[in-house]
Amino acid sequence: MTETMWTATGGGVSYIRGVTTLELDAAKCNGCLLCVKVCPHPVFKPSKGSVEIHEPDLCMECGACVSNCSEGALSVRPGVGCAAAILKSWLTRSSPSCGCG
Ligand code: SF4
Ligand code: SF4
Repeated sequence: MTETMWTATGGGVSYIRGVTTLELDAAKCNGCLLCVKVCPHPVFKPSKGSVEIHEPDLCMECGACVSNCSEGALSVRPGVGCAAAILKSWLTRSSPSCGCG
């Protein structure tokens, strides 16, 4: 049986599970919470003066959090885990490239 591409959750649409490239270096985080504010999905949640990646499968790899993090604590490869980009790459037999952000 094939796995469902998208899953409706309480917080929104979950993209393909376990493929996001989003990473957090908690040692660099200053706890400003800007990533929480700019992220269109509830990916992050505050944790002990910092943040944690709470729902990684909700990340659509738009890059907004990375662009707004002054500490360089976040990284993501835009579009690598974006379902639309992956489907397009399958259809066109090309590398995933996201136009969402
Ligand atoms: S924007 Fe960067 S420094 Fe601010 S809370 Fe998020 S990860 Fe930490
Ligand atoms: S890349 Fe976009 S969707 Fe993913 S955590 Fe950052 S702001 Fe949220």
